[in-house]
Amino acid sequence: MKRFSLLTDDMKTCYVSGVTYDIHIHEVFYGTANRKKSIKYGCCVPLTARLHNASNKGVHFNKELDMRLKREMQKAFEEKYSHEKFMEVFHKNYLEDDDDNG
Ligand SMILES: [Zn+2]
Repeated sequence: MKRFSLLTDDMKTCYVSGVTYDIHIHEVFYGTANRKKSIKYGCCVPLTARLHNASNKGVHFNKELDMRLKREMQKAFEEKYSHEKFMEVFHKNYLEDDDDNG
């Protein structure tokens, strides 16, 4: 299945930095239980390796960036579907809860 993102139409450009090299596809709501849903609903973003997992600035080690992407993705999802649908699929409201990231 061709990957798409609710946040960008350009899967070859880093969503955060705008660079076009070393692009990884990051599942914004990562974790085994969410991976299939993430693929189905387009809850991924292209990130350059440095901002993905190849440095401590990367989203997998950088809580601030992680929460920023989760919030932006939840907003985009809710604009396309609804808040109820988001809660039904992902079971967590990132727009209100900024402490417990699971
Ligand atoms: Zn990732």
